[in-house]
Amino acid sequence: MQEVQPPKKPMAFYYILVLAVILMFNEMARPYFDQAQIEQVDYSQFMDMTESQQIGKVEIKDNQIIFVDQDGKKYKTGVTNDPQLVQRLHDSGAEFTQDIKEETSPIVSFFLAWILPLIIFFAIGQYFSRKLMERGGGANGMFFGGGNSQAKIYVPSSEGIHFKDVAGEDEAKENLSEIVDYLHNPKKYSSIGASMPKGVLLVGPPGTGKTMLAKAVAGEADVPFFSIAGSEFVEMFVGMGASKVRDLFKQAKEKAPCIVFIDEIDAIGQKRNGANMGNDEREQTLNQLLTEMDGFEGNTGVIILAATNRPDSLDPALLRPGRFDRRVPVELPDLKGREAILAVHGQKVRLASDVDFHTVARMAAGASGAELANIVNEGALRAVRNGREVVTEADLEESVEVVIAGYQKKNAILSDKEKHTVAYHEIGHALVAALQSHSAPVQKITIIPRTSGALGYTMQVEKQDQYILTKEELENKIATFTGGRAAEEVKFNQVSTGAANDIEQATKLARAMITRYGMSEDFGMVAMETVTNRYLGGDTSLACSAATQEQIDRQVVALVREQHEKARKLLADNMEKLDELAAYLYEKETITGDEFMKILKGEETAAEAEAREDAEERAKSSTPVVDPEHHKYNLA
Ligand code: ADP
Ligand code: ZN
Repeated sequence: MQEVQPPKKPMAFYYILVLAVILMFNEMARPYFDQAQIEQVDYSQFMDMTESQQIGKVEIKDNQIIFVDQDGKKYKTGVTNDPQLVQRLHDSGAEFTQDIKEETSPIVSFFLAWILPLIIFFAIGQYFSRKLMERGGGANGMFFGGGNSQAKIYVPSSEGIHFKDVAGEDEAKENLSEIVDYLHNPKKYSSIGASMPKGVLLVGPPGTGKTMLAKAVAGEADVPFFSIAGSEFVEMFVGMGASKVRDLFKQAKEKAPCIVFIDEIDAIGQKRNGANMGNDEREQTLNQLLTEMDGFEGNTGVIILAATNRPDSLDPALLRPGRFDRRVPVELPDLKGREAILAVHGQKVRLASDVDFHTVARMAAGASGAELANIVNEGALRAVRNGREVVTEADLEESVEVVIAGYQKKNAILSDKEKHTVAYHEIGHALVAALQSHSAPVQKITIIPRTSGALGYTMQVEKQDQYILTKEELENKIATFTGGRAAEEVKFNQVSTGAANDIEQATKLARAMITRYGMSEDFGMVAMETVTNRYLGGDTSLACSAATQEQIDRQVVALVREQHEKARKLLADNMEKLDELAAYLYEKETITGDEFMKILKGEETAAEAEAREDAEERAKSSTPVVDPEHHKYNLA
């Protein structure tokens, strides 16, 4: 789509203006700077020097005499009433002149003194008043003239975004296609007496394609698209936001049928409460929005789409029927969706024949559409860095890791002893995972430090997306988290700081099991915690008595401790394998799940070969979990 914006005066105009002002001041100030450097002497010294014929050139001005000595040094002195000066100078043989008054033409001097400053002031004034008007000075129309809202208008064009550009998200598309149909043929709906919802709220985590979907609705329906971010309404001056809302709706009604898209509507639509004093501006803006939405009739053809990732913070008045009464969830893509999104973005780069989006999609469990787009782009950048002309599977797999854990740190920063510790730590995770049933196969283990601060990590990849987890699976996950620390303990009989992130994740999971998933004997099916911010990190808030909190804490500790014990026992019973694998990893720095399984199985019997093949089959399938910084890739 093309964006239509009012023409602007070129920036160069203002640069030239500023330059002119600087030059003018420079010209005026120069004589003062020059004179500051000249030494001032008494008139008597001037006379002495004249007498002894020490001076060269002399310049007599209105109020001072500037002269140079034989060495070319400059002096100045005042003018006194000295009729013999000229004679004496002549006698001494000095070269002298009287200043000629330069007659500037009166027209030029009038222009310089009066007209030019006026022009400059006028231009500066214009610039600032325009700035103010751009910022939506409509409310104070008396001062600034009619204000313009900042809503950008997109006119439909053939190269706009369509539903086919938004991969996955089939439910959302299905939901929105009704609106497209309505915009195509409103009669069909009005004749039966049905009216379209005025507002549709797109709800979901960041980067899942909400903006894209809104544009696609406009693209499919071939109608103009107005877009504005909620934060743009919130202005410094009270009333300006409200006037922007008015303008926006006025424009929209003129252009109907059309789509108005308000991004991040939570910026203005937050719950109003008495406690928030000093938020007049936001409240007025919201009130105006509510009024405007009530003001237009159902079937005018203006459809308002709004996006937010904090639906629970929205004011109930905004959500009542007649306003944003329809909610379209735009969730993180599932495996199939991820594959489709990768394919859409893969079209924009040159791909090698070995690229398998299915594998990449499996590795990138939990990634949003925006992150997947980034993964493809990172892969392409890596290909360029390595001097290749096509993007390979390895590029994409590496870029998944870059997005998860950051870039590899090139120069070794670990001491030999530390590297040993990290190797045992990572093998500890992998081994505990492999020795338990129901845990995701290990895909890759590495001890190359990453820029995220991770010194190494173990990547487990689920065969497919998991929507529910059993209690046993969760317990195994906790055991796997503790596996790193457990390995350090059984091998070196000491503990290190390396397990901080594991501890955090294990605790979070154990807490959730007890307070939210009803997996504790004592509490049964009672929720002790509720998730408050589902789409942004999933913060929780406690809702129980202080005594219960204590009990929860004790149970969390017990649960994690139990799994930690289990992990320690598993590793102690398999000490030889732990040593062998850790030595191998220390040597190679990065090993695949296949290699790991081969060593774990040792010499192959026929049954083992089959078991291995089976395991490899599983290992090939690919959710990075376990080690560092990645709660969001977990189901926890
Ligand atoms: P949101 O508004 O939900 O935060 P956007 O619509 O701005 O997310 O998406 C950001 C970028 O991510 C898009 O420009 C697009 O490149 C990519 N993207 C996100 N979701 C999808 C999807 N379902 N299909 C294709 N690309 C997507
Ligand atoms: Zn760890």
